[in-house]
Amino acid sequence: EEAAHDGLKWKYHDPDSLQDASWKLSMLSQLDEAVDRGEVWVAFQPKVDLKSRRIIGAEALARWTHPEKGPIAAAEFVAAAEQNDRIGKLTAFVLDRSIGFAAGLTRGGREFDMSVNLSGRLLSDKALVGRIAILLERHGLEARHLTLELTETAAIAGSGNALDMLIQLRELGVNISIDDYGTGLSTLDYLKKVPASEIKIDQSFVRGMVENRSERLMVASTIALAHSLGRQVVAEGVETREALDILAEMECDIVQGYITGRPMSMDSLRRRLSSERSARVA
Ligand code: C2E
Ligand code: MG
Ligand code: MG
Ligand code: MG
Repeated sequence: EEAAHDGLKWKYHDPDSLQDASWKLSMLSQLDEAVDRGEVWVAFQPKVDLKSRRIIGAEALARWTHPEKGPIAAAEFVAAAEQNDRIGKLTAFVLDRSIGFAAGLTRGGREFDMSVNLSGRLLSDKALVGRIAILLERHGLEARHLTLELTETAAIAGSGNALDMLIQLRELGVNISIDDYGTGLSTLDYLKKVPASEIKIDQSFVRGMVENRSERLMVASTIALAHSLGRQVVAEGVETREALDILAEMECDIVQGYITGRPMSMDSLRRRLSSERSARVA
């Protein structure tokens, strides 16, 4: 069930549909209602600490199972929603579910860090910080257990006000992570300015480094740079044992990818966490 909702399995959905304006429009007009109807759900992919090899948290990934079209790729409906200022409701839904899930685990004695993707567009929404504070309060999750993942490009585009919003989020105690790191522009300037406690190395480098020596050097020096600036490093898209071993040697902090588990339902993740053995990636 969960595998069918994962990244690589979307091929049967027409990739040209992004260009298909009428489908895009109808998808947009359906998204908010889809949330209300329960067609949208949240999948979780485990994040594993490379020292202890234990699951320490997860990334929340939005899923939309359309009654006729079947699963729609997150990249597709998220991009459409972002371009049309319709990302707010989806984000509120994902935040509510994922904060609730992490709070439940923590109450049950299992500390858990939750990462949620945040569209850079929402950084211009003045009410954002207050709304996140209310959600944390309502569910009883400490802010330090929440990380918001932002892509380089998104937040750069937002500029001054965006930075201000990130500082407010940091003051609330929420962590900021730079997603898809290495794919955006002005990387050094950005790293210096953005109050992120974590960077996530993009999966293209993680895949490339296994075969390619220069990409491996890039990953190694990125990890060293991030550490020297006091940032923690997550590698995403880690699929193989080989990649995991290379990253461990480079003293990467956290890994995430098919090797830590496909994005899965809450119930599946709860089962993974229920025994010490299944909550480990050796
Ligand atoms: P992302 O945040 O960089 O998420 C990682 C993507 O890589 C996910 O795709 C995940 O399923 C996939 N992935 C994880 N491990 C592996 C692996 O080992 N190999 C490969 N090939 N792929 C892997 P997904 O779920 O389709 O999401 C795509 C993008 O959509 C995300 O990229 C994120 O930018 C966006 N997104 C997803 N959910 C949300 C959301 O709730 N809000 C916002 N704003 N964006 C979201
Ligand atoms: Mg992400
Ligand atoms: Mg990413
Ligand atoms: Mg991405």
